Amino acid sequence: MNISLVQGDITDQRVDAIVNAANSSLMGGGGVDGAIHRRGGPEILAECRELRASRYPDGLPTGQAVATTAGALQARWVIHTVGPVYSRGEDRSHLLASCYRESLVVAASLGAVTVAFPAISAGVYRWPMRDAARIALSTVRQAWPAGSSVAEARFVLFDSAAYAVFEEILAESR
Ligand code: ADP
Repeated sequence: MNISLVQGDITDQRVDAIVNAANSSLMGGGGVDGAIHRRGGPEILAECRELRASRYPDGLPTGQAVATTAGALQARWVIHTVGPVYSRGEDRSHLLASCYRESLVVAASLGAVTVAFPAISAGVYRWPMRDAARIALSTVRQAWPAGSSVAEARFVLFDSAAYAVFEEILAESR
């Protein structure tokens, strides 16, 4: 397994699967979600609507993951996962870890080899970047499904500050 870090826009990545920091409605939003739907086009939203009409009438629960087409993106699939909103009063780390774990399970079930992840929950959902990075990196390392098709997990960090934090935590754990 190979964990890599890049600074950039996740919608520019050429990978098998791009993980979306979605919200439970699956109907789009800001941040990564908005960028994915803008660049990927209406096919993604159409499949999300179908999922709402069939498997997830009440929305995708926090910590779970589901795949759709990647539309016009340079990927085969978008894996939508719903991160928890950060709370100072309640430890929701297990839900954030679950996003990474479940996304890897979905990726492996599709036969994806390369998977791009954003820093889930670290934007609008306000998770502190350092803690988000720690959970992301340790979970992906531990949860890699045995015999999985996935060979590369690529974290795509939008700005240099987020990239530096991920780089530091990855170096600490090597
Ligand atoms: P959440 O609602 O789960 O917090 P966001 O999309 O608001 O998700 O933010 C998650 C992280 O992704 C933040 O660090 C944000 O800066 C970053 N981000 C926003 N747009 C992009 C993008 N196009 N590519 C990669 N990362 C992005």
